[in-house]
Amino acid sequence: MTDSDNDSMSTTTTIMSEPTQKCPICECGVRYDCRYTRYVCNECEKNAVTENGKKIKFFNEKHGFGCVSYVNDQKTEVPIHKCYINGIECYADEGRFGGIVIQAAKNK
Ligand SMILES: [Zn+2]
Repeated sequence: MTDSDNDSMSTTTTIMSEPTQKCPICECGVRYDCRYTRYVCNECEKNAVTENGKKIKFFNEKHGFGCVSYVNDQKTEVPIHKCYINGIECYADEGRFGGIVIQAAKNK
């Protein structure tokens, strides 16, 4: 809900020659995205599970917006955003331009 990532202290790092970043789970190279610096790659997305270890998937509710979650192919009444991939806590939400973005939670 809150966007505490938006620190007013600007520590922008300009990366000119490296338009990629690493998937926080498997560390493969993914397309650089200045807004989603910890988003997980498509392969890792498939491994998302709930806290209880059930398979979870995320979809847009309608026309590419909103975020709904499916656990064991059943839509949850209340959308779940938290999930785990390889034991790493992640958070799924609607992307800036629609679609679903799953990001690893901040490092402790
Ligand atoms: Zn990955």
